[in-house]
Amino acid sequence: MHVFRLRGNFETLDIYSAALFELGARGLEEKPGEVWAYFPERIELPFPGEWQELPDTDWLEAYKRDLQPVRAGPFVVLAPWHTWEGPEKRIVIEPGMAFGTGHHETTRMALATLAERVEPGMRVLDLGTGSGILAIGAALLGAEALGIDIDPAVIPQATENARRNQVKVQFQVGSLDDIAGPFDLVVANLYAELHAYFAQKYRGLFGVCGTLILTGILAEREGIVTSALEAAGFGLLARRQEGEWVCLTYAAR
Ligand code: SAM
Repeated sequence: MHVFRLRGNFETLDIYSAALFELGARGLEEKPGEVWAYFPERIELPFPGEWQELPDTDWLEAYKRDLQPVRAGPFVVLAPWHTWEGPEKRIVIEPGMAFGTGHHETTRMALATLAERVEPGMRVLDLGTGSGILAIGAALLGAEALGIDIDPAVIPQATENARRNQVKVQFQVGSLDDIAGPFDLVVANLYAELHAYFAQKYRGLFGVCGTLILTGILAEREGIVTSALEAAGFGLLARRQEGEWVCLTYAAR
């Protein structure tokens, strides 16, 4: 197996993943400071990084074998083959190409924050739903959840994940301009620049008041989010940080 070690991070993965798959990558994996892109053969790539040969093991099987259950607030996120005896609320996610297995800090902080803020019957929007994990978590807490994503490829995976968890969640392809509020709570695991860009539009998703949970924010870029959200009339309610990642909770007012 040939692996291209692309220099970058989580955001690099977000930016380049479509192009890497288009160029023939069979899988992507986030490593500290790098994204590993697995290819059946070496090709010319216009990205910063270098090639490395790996022994011909089935990396996907190895990755799945090493995947451990992960706790987030009152939840535990499991792959379908895991067993779990604890009292946590289970979320079962098939690890696939859609982001959101619970192994990233941002997903875990968003789940823990949802558990503190969601009340049964709330109308919740998960913007950038990926595997559907946050919408599914909200539905397990009793919300009426909608998951939306610009990537059509994730919708069947999210739908299947909701089915596995026996919750009713609506998923659709699109972004902010394709949905009508009002929502009681919106959660978005995107990235700092996009949150800043969406700040005014986020306000339009709520009625008189509501809760906005934003993550995918690198601590060093937090300032651009806080100033944009403040200018759009949001008030900061809470902040979490795990490693270099931040999760901000706002009140729409
Ligand atoms: N919600 C999951 C989680 O927390 O683990 C997945 C988050 S993943 C970091 C970001 C997702 O947002 C990706 O599935 C991506 O396709 C989607 N996305 C990126 N930009 C978007 C946009 N402008 N509108 C809607 N979805 C977007």
